Amino acid sequence: MKKHESDAKTVLKQLGKLSKFLADLEVGADNDHCFDVPLDIIRKTMMFDVSVLYKVSNVIENRLILEVVKVLDPNRLRLDLTEGRKLRLFLDNRDKRFINEVAAFSDKRESHINVPGMGCDIMGYVYLPDSFGGAYLFGGDFCGKESSIKDYEVSGVQIMCNFLSAILLKTRFEHQAEYDNLTGLFNSAKIKGQLDIQLKRFERKQESVASIAIGDIDFFKKVNDTYGHIQGDLVLKQVGRILSDSMRSVFDVAGRYGGEEFLLVFDETNQSQAQKIVERLRKTIETTRFPRIDKTGILENKYLNISMSFGIAVLDKQSDIQNTTDWIARADTALYQSKQNGRNQNSIFVKEN
Ligand code: GH3
Ligand code: MG
Ligand code: MG
Repeated sequence: MKKHESDAKTVLKQLGKLSKFLADLEVGADNDHCFDVPLDIIRKTMMFDVSVLYKVSNVIENRLILEVVKVLDPNRLRLDLTEGRKLRLFLDNRDKRFINEVAAFSDKRESHINVPGMGCDIMGYVYLPDSFGGAYLFGGDFCGKESSIKDYEVSGVQIMCNFLSAILLKTRFEHQAEYDNLTGLFNSAKIKGQLDIQLKRFERKQESVASIAIGDIDFFKKVNDTYGHIQGDLVLKQVGRILSDSMRSVFDVAGRYGGEEFLLVFDETNQSQAQKIVERLRKTIETTRFPRIDKTGILENKYLNISMSFGIAVLDKQSDIQNTTDWIARADTALYQSKQNGRNQNSIFVKEN
């Protein structure tokens, strides 16, 4: 067999492996890592020494602005490609070091040369809709290779770019399916799923204990009515951040249950512990100064205050909770009590005999 035929067969074999990888791939929802796995697979499949993902940040007149999103460079061969670095490239007067990057962007496809020191050897254009982050350029460098790039390697990169788009879209869809857009917390379906996990564990281990709390912002309608909906959104975002920052461990989770209602799940937490955590949260919210914005969305040097009411319900041997709905209904009843008693407080569900 001639050398180039065996090389082509190797790439084909690797592509077969890649499709299997992709079928089993579960990319983490964390945005920081969603590029790692696919880029690494592609780097190994194509046998690149370095692979890099640029985001097309902007095009201003004849200047293309690229941002390095991710670099996989185990042997530290391209120290110039650091994550977060921005490149400003002229589209009409091409910088020789990044000639491939500009060509791939201009043609919206692949570009390849293999001259040491001239950017990545092969670049490809990765398209995603704007709401998913827009366009990316994906590139690979064969640092040690003498020979020029072959046709099948270019076709390989073409396929890789399509794979990368598909993986990134899948990751973003998965992320959107589980997270709330505004606050970044778990959405209602996902947080309810956490209750199921706790209930299943309780079935197996009757001596375990867990607590939930529903928190609802007091008089939130007034915030919207007085300062506008954008201000309301900003407050919701900040409340979301306060709640998630105050979760003690990876096992405690916060989600946006409804408009201005949040659901918190505390793992291995009994009633008095839950009450302590929630009381601390309530105080934090009460004392936080929420930045005000004017009608055009510009930050003012003013602040507003809010408060939150909470309802807590505990799952333990005595509680006799049947299912998720039952558990949430109890927390809701306790929340109602907090509201009735004057708001800005927490209550624990107590079963009536
Ligand atoms: P209470 O103390 O009884 O909870 O009073 P409240 O005003 O907070 O409760 P109400 O249920 O009357 O109003 C909730 C408000 O939350 C009404 C709705 O416009 C607002 N809201 C719900 N979702 C969002 C959102 O995503 N953004 C903004 N800005 N407001 C929202
Ligand atoms: Mg409400
Ligand atoms: Mg409310």
